[in-house]
Amino acid sequence: MGDTGKDTVLATRGISKAFGALQASDAISLDLKAGEIHAVIGPNGAGKSTLIAQICGTLAPDAGQVELNGEDITALSARARARKGLGRTFQISALAMEDTVLQNAVLGAQGAMGTLWRFWQPALKNKALLARADEALARVGLEELRNMRTSELSHGQRRQLEVAVALTLRPKAFVMDEPMAGLGAEGSQRLTQFLAELKQEAPILLVEHDMDAVFALADRISVLVYGRVIATGSVEQIRANKDVRDAYLGDAT
Ligand code: ADP
Ligand code: MG
Repeated sequence: MGDTGKDTVLATRGISKAFGALQASDAISLDLKAGEIHAVIGPNGAGKSTLIAQICGTLAPDAGQVELNGEDITALSARARARKGLGRTFQISALAMEDTVLQNAVLGAQGAMGTLWRFWQPALKNKALLARADEALARVGLEELRNMRTSELSHGQRRQLEVAVALTLRPKAFVMDEPMAGLGAEGSQRLTQFLAELKQEAPILLVEHDMDAVFALADRISVLVYGRVIATGSVEQIRANKDVRDAYLGDAT
């Protein structure tokens, strides 16, 4: 945990955050290595989303650092982190529902390429932006639906579109907060399959409640309870860990 291995892409070093008397993050050190899915699990209120917010730069830690490819990015804004290759998808969708699939992807590409957000027509005629957006849509299998209104997509397709928007950044690491939320069994299975392929592109720090998905996908799992990592290990190690079973998994496994 927290070692500076050459293959470490993303790391937190002693991230701490209090909300009044509540210690929501308590010296959290985690790392994400090339090629892996590292799942972060834990009960409701354990501090998973708070951790993600500090990694992505929407919440400033009281103490500790975030590093991307060995660079300290703790002082950078969320947008600056995204430009450096931190690809995010959120617990709550950030898609513009009234816009088309392509427009959402172009918006992502615009953010990635640092051009102005405001002007639709020029953006949709910009070949470099369009190419990047289309490439990302093709990568997630939504190219046929590029002109559909986003609100008409299924939940699963919206999750795929969120990943496409993140892909326009050509991310070095993905950070995902409960991507399976709201998906049925079939949607979860499809997304699970997709994430298993996506990790070849960039490693994924995955916060997820769906234990079937976590056990199927994770190369490593960290368990967060009351803002503290109580264990990190392989699926087998975590399933067998007594503290984890007591604190979280109970009889579910
Ligand atoms: P999780 O994602 O694991 O369910 P959260 O990170 O959302 O947990 O929340 C961790 C704890 O911090 C919870 O007790 C929550 O109520 C609290 N919390 C989260 N955000 C805030 C905030 N902005 N202000 C005060 N308390 C917060
Ligand atoms: Mg949460």
